[in-house]
Amino acid sequence: KSERKRKPDWLRVKLPIGPEYKKVRALVDEYKLNTICQSGNCPNMGECWGAGTATFMILGNTCTRSCSFCAVKTGRPTEYDVDEPRRVAEAIELMQVKHAVLTSVNRDELKDRGAEIWYQTVSQIKERTPQTTIETLIPDVRGNWDALYRMIEGGQEVVSHNMETVRELYRKVRPQGKYERSLEELRRIKEFGKRTKTGFMVGLGETEEQVEKILDDLLEVGVDVVTIGQYLQPTAMHLAVDSFVTPDTFAHYKAMGLEKGFDYVESGPLVRSSYHAERHI
Ligand code: SF4
Ligand code: SF4
Repeated sequence: KSERKRKPDWLRVKLPIGPEYKKVRALVDEYKLNTICQSGNCPNMGECWGAGTATFMILGNTCTRSCSFCAVKTGRPTEYDVDEPRRVAEAIELMQVKHAVLTSVNRDELKDRGAEIWYQTVSQIKERTPQTTIETLIPDVRGNWDALYRMIEGGQEVVSHNMETVRELYRKVRPQGKYERSLEELRRIKEFGKRTKTGFMVGLGETEEQVEKILDDLLEVGVDVVTIGQYLQPTAMHLAVDSFVTPDTFAHYKAMGLEKGFDYVESGPLVRSSYHAERHI
């Protein structure tokens, strides 16, 4: 077993407590919702929840995949909750969320990959609070493009699909994913006419050349927004951190991305794909 590395100072953040945080937490519990903030042990909860934003995870809390970096539980999901879209839409209204980020587990066992629940959730939010802008961070549809189009036709402003890592590390980091297939998904999202976003982690053992290559690939398929953040090991059972990338290197990646021509690049140790999402709609 690998030894866990000590976190550098720039990754130490204060515990989330405050009245807004408590309000969001109470609503999330009452409406039986899942948030990626909690499932992913995100270090930004104090900041985001304090500001009244949270990333809702729909389609349950059990994922059919087992990415080696991810804290979400793996298994065969049993629930298919057709009332979930209404609860998410209501909670977003009550929380007065200005910009909502939605994501989901992978539901590879469903023929439509969960697309109908995705569509219902987005369109019900838009019905209830049309002024709320929405970003949907969608899963790998495994080439089911009809499912993809259903997922993204409910009126959301931004569609993201995360690459997670460079091509060379897919087998290790995202074993059920395919680099080319995820690129193709992004290409189709862009073609559909959506603002297209992706994110990947660093500190997994990638080289700087590999980071440059993924940026080139993303630009080629038309991606508008890229987020780059430090991988943090959620538990001792997960993939070990290879390195803590310094703030200077993050700044360098950001400059590189902007120079290549992306519209917006968010790059830093604490960046998550939903971090500051309201800034790049
Ligand atoms: Fe939640 Fe995203 Fe903020 Fe983390 S960065 S607390 S996952 S909204
Ligand atoms: Fe986690 Fe998404 Fe991978 Fe499922 S598909 S294990 S939720 S990263």
